[in-house]
Amino acid sequence: MERGISLERAISLVQKRKKELSAETIHLDDSHGRILAAPLVSKVNDPRFDNSAMDGWAVRKEDIPDGKKISLSIVGISKAGGNTPPPISSGEACKIMTGAPIPQGANAIVMVEDTEVHGKEVIISGFARENYIRTKGENISEGALILSKGHFMDAFSISLAATMGHDCIPVFRKPVVGIISTGDELIPPGSEINDWQIYESNSFGIADLVRKMGGIPIRYPTVVDSLDLLRESLNQAAENCDLIITSGGVSMGDFDIVRKIMELEGEINFWRIKMRPGGPPIFGNWKKTPIFGLPGNPVSSHLVFLMIVCPWFRASFQADENSKPSLGRKVHVKMLDKVKGAPEKLCLRRIKISNSEKGLIATTLTHQGSGNIHSMVAHNGVTLLPPNSDANIGEIIDAFWFD
Ligand code: AMP
Ligand code: MG
Repeated sequence: MERGISLERAISLVQKRKKELSAETIHLDDSHGRILAAPLVSKVNDPRFDNSAMDGWAVRKEDIPDGKKISLSIVGISKAGGNTPPPISSGEACKIMTGAPIPQGANAIVMVEDTEVHGKEVIISGFARENYIRTKGENISEGALILSKGHFMDAFSISLAATMGHDCIPVFRKPVVGIISTGDELIPPGSEINDWQIYESNSFGIADLVRKMGGIPIRYPTVVDSLDLLRESLNQAAENCDLIITSGGVSMGDFDIVRKIMELEGEINFWRIKMRPGGPPIFGNWKKTPIFGLPGNPVSSHLVFLMIVCPWFRASFQADENSKPSLGRKVHVKMLDKVKGAPEKLCLRRIKISNSEKGLIATTLTHQGSGNIHSMVAHNGVTLLPPNSDANIGEIIDAFWFD
């Protein structure tokens, strides 16, 4: 077991325990946010044939003297989805619509705005442009590998897959993630509450983060601080899930049962990372299923998810570190407030990041305690202050901007 490691080391250990996910084939309509399990090759050329980028007239460029008016005889019309247009020879023009095939013999287009029709003649008064012709395969050639394994499907990629002729695509199965909150003080929101109780909140937020990362969350009932009940819940989750996430009970307190049970019966890869908030997480295996023991403090548990659980998802999806799914991105911000760092630890102060003419600026608004989940809503990012360093007003620092 490694103890008190850097965030980078924690990420690399987590990535080694990625899940081998099988593939499933799904319809494009269901593919938003899914990750390709195999490369996608185009079934067609794009464009499929030479076609016009403009509504106008297909002509022979050599017939059009630049800047002078000229009259050409009309041979017919080419429309998108229509029949093969008639060929043109010298002195002729064919009316053409955007996306329609270029008639044989034509090599340029004149925009409709630069023309006038008189009976069977069209008077051209503008330029004939070759670059108004979109040539076959200029975007994508048939057989080319266009989307790689690990690609995150968004609106543009979905359109691109359809353009390439795919109605169904292979994607990685969604990992099933069991979420177990621990603590005698926790009761579900909506219930009657005693003086010594608090509403259990972490499992709801963590479930949402799991969904955003492309997983299927299962929220198990909260476990009181009992080793036997926790063991039962962990065994059940290990059987049904690809990953287990617990919340609470990983510090040095007498009732920190997740840490205890992992020490006694689990396998720990690491405990504690040099990060504030979010110092005490545990990572390891429970019966061969990877398990993250997140701290109970709400800010800590969510931030630890962002920092070390996200990389597990990306590694399992064979997506690279900077690609989606993600919950935010690294940016540089100019601090408008002074913020204190932490001795020996990467410091994640909550900050509100906004755009300004001179780039991104950041302020701090509310109380920063690791129990204050409101600080995660009032702000939209965190500092990534290196150990032993504060940030002064006007200083440019690294930050993580939530999506
Ligand atoms: P623990 O890590 O179990 O020592 O908990 C640290 C703090 O987080 C305590 O104040 C707990 O009451 C609180 N906490 C623990 N689990 C949750 C949870 N699931 N939802 C909200 N607060 C929690
Ligand atoms: Mg607890």
